[in-house]
Amino acid sequence: MWYTASVAENLRNAHSYGFRVPGLSDAPAEQPIPFDWNTLKHKRDAYIKRLNGIYERNLEKDHVDEYQGRASFTSANELEVRAQDGSTYSLRAKNILIAVGGAPTIPDIEGAEHGISSDGFFELEHQPKRVAVVGAGYISVELAGIFHTLGSETHLLIRHDKVLRTFDNIISDTLTEHMAGTGINIHKETNITKVVKDESSGALTLTLDTGKTLEVDTLLWAIGRHPETKALNLDKAGVKTDDHGFVTVDAYQKTSAANVFAVGDVIGKALLTPVAIAAGRRLSNRLFGGEQFKDDKLDYSNIASVIFSHPTAGSVGLTEAEAKKEHGEDKIKVYQTKFTGMVRRPLHLPSVSGGSRMTDRVRVPHSAVQRNARQPGAQVADGLQARHAPADREGARCSHRRRGLRRDHAVCRRRRQDGCHQEGPRRHGRDPCVPRASV
Ligand SMILES: Cc1cc2nc3c(=O)[nH]c(=O)nc-3n(C[C@H](O)[C@H](O)[C@H](O)COP(=O)(O)OP(=O)(O)OC[C@H]3O[C@@H](n4cnc5c(N)ncnc54)[C@H](O)[C@@H]3O)c2cc1C
Repeated sequence: MWYTASVAENLRNAHSYGFRVPGLSDAPAEQPIPFDWNTLKHKRDAYIKRLNGIYERNLEKDHVDEYQGRASFTSANELEVRAQDGSTYSLRAKNILIAVGGAPTIPDIEGAEHGISSDGFFELEHQPKRVAVVGAGYISVELAGIFHTLGSETHLLIRHDKVLRTFDNIISDTLTEHMAGTGINIHKETNITKVVKDESSGALTLTLDTGKTLEVDTLLWAIGRHPETKALNLDKAGVKTDDHGFVTVDAYQKTSAANVFAVGDVIGKALLTPVAIAAGRRLSNRLFGGEQFKDDKLDYSNIASVIFSHPTAGSVGLTEAEAKKEHGEDKIKVYQTKFTGMVRRPLHLPSVSGGSRMTDRVRVPHSAVQRNARQPGAQVADGLQARHAPADREGARCSHRRRGLRRDHAVCRRRRQDGCHQEGPRRHGRDPCVPRASV
């Protein structure tokens, strides 16, 4: 869906790049381009069905027996499986892996059931004209971005004053400002207290704790996810969970019960598909791969992640706040720069940051005591053009000084004092400006 929105964005920008697309050429840049959600939905569903089939055939080829149903423990070595037709059977195994993932959380308020979750997003047959997305995490940011870019009137309701609060400030601040600048209605410090559905029109009236009401066609809850552990009868296996229900594991994915392991979202750590796969691979290597893999385990530090927002953002390693907490404020240096992305400015595309100058940022922080704790920071938007970021250059060309940003300019100056005389971003994962003392 992100690619679809990206196509819409490119179509809108095509004219500015000199493309004369019949039917689009004279369209004002922000005019919605007709888009058939239903056609895409069915193509996407068919593609996923095909993928499901490929995975099933691969399991067969690998002689994996597949049992369909909901499983729950009867002991540490035995599961009861309830099939869709209601019949049950048991399975015994020497090792059992819990990988049941999580489910979206729906709040306990009147009328909440009229809203959908991210699962419901993929079931939408038609594009809603007006949509409210609730939540400030990456799922709500991504889905709000898709709705808006494809032309829905989009409201994003957040409890605090910005999105992605667990990420570095440079990401959360920039993206919050940028999303508002593109026309997403961000309702800050706002909670829904009640939802009422008009049965004849299907419209939903949201009562907000700011005293206002909001009418939309679709309400999407993206306020968090919880582990699917309640129905597993984990106590019968002696498997412990934390206060939120996530399965507790050690560094080798081992639970508190012998021969019961857990990977993926159910352990509540780095909730990403490649992480679940990598942890599973390491575990199977260790259990069945022989002597050479006897200590294999996944290192959960420095896992890179991307936010498919509009524009995209990415980060890896500790946030600035985490780095300061872990290593001490005096041991951390932060290098930060803003610059204008090539994709818009030279072509005179309209500004998207509420009339102010469009800025894209690259940040290259690192810890003096543990340089590898931080890889090339966050890049937002067209940040790959960091090669030309003015702050990487010498003397009076520091863009911070030109723009009166004294604190950032001081950072540029300090960077030069640290002995950095190189231009350009880090290459091959190395920061050209790492002070010698810290290497
Ligand atoms: C909207 C959205 C967007 C995302 N985007 C990304 C992304 O871009 N990149 C990324 O890396 N990650 C993304 N994620 C996260 C990613 O989907 C998860 O990290 C990943 O799916 C976790 O895999 P898992 O195997 O732990 O759990 P899941 O993929 O959730 O699989 C768990 C399976 O177990 C089944 N199950 C549950 N209980 C039982 C039971 N009792 N018996 C039998 N089966 C059971 C469930 O039905 C499910 O099929 C996204 C998640 C969401 C919701």
